[in-house]
Amino acid sequence: MDGLMMDFPLTLSMVMRRAELLFPEKEIVTRQPDRSFHRYTYSEWIRRSKKLALALKKLGVKDGDRIGSFCWNHYQHYELYFGIPAMGAVLHTLNLRLGAEDLSYIINHADDQILFIDESLLPLFEKFREKVSFKKVIVISQKGNIPEGMLDYEELLAAEDDKDFEYTDWDENKAISMCYTSGTTGKPKGTVYSHRSTVLHAMVCAMSSGLGLNQNDILLPVVPMFHANAWGIPFAAPLVGCGLVFPGPFLDPPSLLEAFEQEKVTITGGVPTIWIGMLKVLDENPTAYNLSKMRTLLVGGSAVPKSLIDDFESRHNLNIVHAWGMTEMSPLGTINSLKPRLINSDRPTQLNYRATQGLPVNLVEFRIRGDEGLLEFDGQSMGELEVRGPYIASAYYNSPEGADKFTEDGWFKTGDIATIDPDCYLEIKDRTKDLVKSGGEWISSVELENALMGHEAVAEAAVFAVAHEKWQERPLAAVVLQEGKSAGKDELIAHLAKEFPKWWLPDDVVFIEEIPKTSVGKFKKIVLRETFQNHLINPHS
Ligand code: AMP
Repeated sequence: MDGLMMDFPLTLSMVMRRAELLFPEKEIVTRQPDRSFHRYTYSEWIRRSKKLALALKKLGVKDGDRIGSFCWNHYQHYELYFGIPAMGAVLHTLNLRLGAEDLSYIINHADDQILFIDESLLPLFEKFREKVSFKKVIVISQKGNIPEGMLDYEELLAAEDDKDFEYTDWDENKAISMCYTSGTTGKPKGTVYSHRSTVLHAMVCAMSSGLGLNQNDILLPVVPMFHANAWGIPFAAPLVGCGLVFPGPFLDPPSLLEAFEQEKVTITGGVPTIWIGMLKVLDENPTAYNLSKMRTLLVGGSAVPKSLIDDFESRHNLNIVHAWGMTEMSPLGTINSLKPRLINSDRPTQLNYRATQGLPVNLVEFRIRGDEGLLEFDGQSMGELEVRGPYIASAYYNSPEGADKFTEDGWFKTGDIATIDPDCYLEIKDRTKDLVKSGGEWISSVELENALMGHEAVAEAAVFAVAHEKWQERPLAAVVLQEGKSAGKDELIAHLAKEFPKWWLPDDVVFIEEIPKTSVGKFKKIVLRETFQNHLINPHS
């Protein structure tokens, strides 16, 4: 017997209709290139998104065409998020920190027809312009400086009347946007999101087991809108009617702190490196900013050191919530929260749990696989994490070589090595490609890094495998010291020895100025491995 419920599609049209009906006065604030704050309401945002949809049609954009965006986080980018799918095309957010080679590969692979670009990013465009071909390039400019042969975003919108727009009830499985992985191995691969996956992800993001959003929240995504949909924040906000603040190109700690205070931001999110920099500024100016409204710093993208959670809370009364996810997962996979039995436990116990990646969010299922098959959730057994759910990729876009990331029974292989404890707390121990395998045994570089970053003289630390004559691989630590602080190799190794078995301890510590980072702010260990590959075989090389 079938249920007798409407087969009603989950689409962004529904999200837009709800936002314009229920929350027309909600504010969206953007820090503009000249540092001034632009403010407008949800109702203006929807009106302009509709005009954009109409303008694209007039430009000849067809259903399913891919449209690139090369933009910082701002209100016009937000209009692209909704206006492009509103006329049936697919938004392709481009990572502006990638090199020309990767960018031109991605644009050509996705076959992007039109590019929307910030005026300030035009010099970057010059670096790959010759390798791509767009039918039109549309410039988003504060002052209206549009190079010859390109179109002005504002002029396009001004020519339309939003009353001419009609909502379409799309098939919920239709594509709305795509994003390429920043993968450090192989070519970047495209994840294609649908109306349905996006609405479901937004609902989970808003739930109490997600970010617990309500109408009083004001969200500031530090995470770029080109990195995994800014973690779903731009889609979750209009479901609930949250205020939004976009930082534009100003991601330095003082600019962000100023925006947090002035706009009374309640939730923000970004990768750990952002918060490591921010902690330093807060420590130096502990009373300069009133952040009393801030309830959650969502931190993920790479592992969050326990010391960072502790320092933010004990010194600045700010609550870091650790999350894990992937571009292929829309991206939320886990969010940390304490189960009721842990609420009254002592602080060290709580911190240990809060430093884990947390519990799976709704609609995500996970399992771990070792060499011999599926493993127990016992908190000890380490294996590759596999996931499935309605907002997890089932394939990569036009990428036959990506097929081996999906199991025959329909799970996605994350490439992360993890343990899961009996309460379902997930701990990411490593990327499969970053694991240190010493004498056939695995050593978790993430655990060692986190412990090193807990030392008061250490600003950043990366642990990685280098060749070793006897053990094939041994861990080496690269450390960046806090300004004005000092610590030697012996002191740091002794610090680790308190927590880890002897065979886990790095064979050496190298002190460097800065850890190389990927385009989305993660440690780029491949560069460290290459630089130091012979360090233990020929330590003076
Ligand atoms: P991306 O798709 O670029 O966001 O990269 C996803 C990968 O980032 C995951 O597979 C993990 O390896 C890593 N990652 C994301 N969040 C975390 C986290 N909280 N802890 C450790 N690794 C993380």
